[in-house]
Order: sequence, then structure tokens, then C-alpha cells
Amino acid sequence: MEREMSKSKKVRLICDRCSKVVNLNGYIAVDDRKASTLDRAARAHEREQALAHASAGPLGVPYDLEWLLQESGYNSVPWHVFHDQCGPDDDGGHYGFPVEEFQTEADVIRWMLHVGGKAWIEFTNWDDFVRKVIR
Ligand SMILES: [Zn+2]
Repeated sequence: MEREMSKSKKVRLICDRCSKVVNLNGYIAVDDRKASTLDRAARAHEREQALAHASAGPLGVPYDLEWLLQESGYNSVPWHVFHDQCGPDDDGGHYGFPVEEFQTEADVIRWMLHVGGKAWIEFTNWDDFVRKVIR
């Protein structure tokens, strides 16, 4: 019983193009190039801040994420869901995986651990995305 439940479908994925449910033949993706650009900018800003404050206090002054997002002209980089046929043609730079791999509780945990290790993940809306799609 428990096992059956844990295997059952736990997510509801809606296509960002046609607004219909995506059960098969679709994917979840994010522009990881954009997120990586933000990550690099954040590190650079962090170093500048650390140098600027080096004489006044300890290193490792946290960067101001809000400032950075505003300054760089980016908002949080959004995760998308598309049917294979609905996705943009140009997704060469996108990081993603098929919807078939994101269906059960175990799938969600596995992918949260996996993408949680990406340096750029904090510059995307991953947490909100997961909250939105789990039932
Ligand atoms: Zn679609």
C-alpha cells in the first residue's frame, strides 16, 4: 500500500505554451546559461565587497542578491514545462530533463538533490516551481 502510494503520480505539470497538462512527451527546462551568468556576477560582486571591507572586518561579506538582480537586469531565471512539440526551437543552452523523470515523490526528491548541487540554482525559481507542481 505504502509502496503503491509512493509510486503514484505526485506532480501536475502544465505546458507553458498551450496550458494543457503534460504527462508524456514533454520536458522541464531552465536557461542555465543565464543563471550561470548571474552566478558569476554574484561571485565577482562578492569578491569586490570582500576587498572593500577587508580592512574594516572579516571577509565573506554576503552579496546583495536583490541589488545584483536589479543591477544586472535579470529577474530570477524561470523553470519551464513544455510538450516536446510546444517548446521553443532554440533551447540549445537549456538545462532540462523529460517529464517522465519527474512524476513521483522519489523523482522530486532525486531531482531536488541533483539540481540543488548546481552553483546557479539559487538564481532560478526552482523552489517555487517545485512548490507549484507538487500536489
Ligand atoms: Zn503544450
